[in-house]
Amino acid sequence: MEHKWVPSETDPRRHCETCGVYEDYGKNFKCEVPKPVGRPAMPEAQKRKPRSIKMTDQEWQRLQQRAADVGVSAAEYIRLKTLAGD
Ligand SMILES: [Zn+2]
Repeated sequence: MEHKWVPSETDPRRHCETCGVYEDYGKNFKCEVPKPVGRPAMPEAQKRKPRSIKMTDQEWQRLQQRAADVGVSAAEYIRLKTLAGD
């Protein structure tokens, strides 16, 4: 596979979009997609993604306090309370 050179944000050299190696270094290597390290990625549908809700400062404080009282994060508290019984 040929390297695909693209500009780097943090370096004047270009780097390979596929394998990530810098241009001057990568000429000595074939382009290989790095093997994923560690456990396989979680399926997209099972990932927790950032969501956004609007709360007043007071509501947020109350939520934080209730979450702290039971020892979970605000996010976990919302999940626990809203999805209880599922
Ligand atoms: Zn490459």
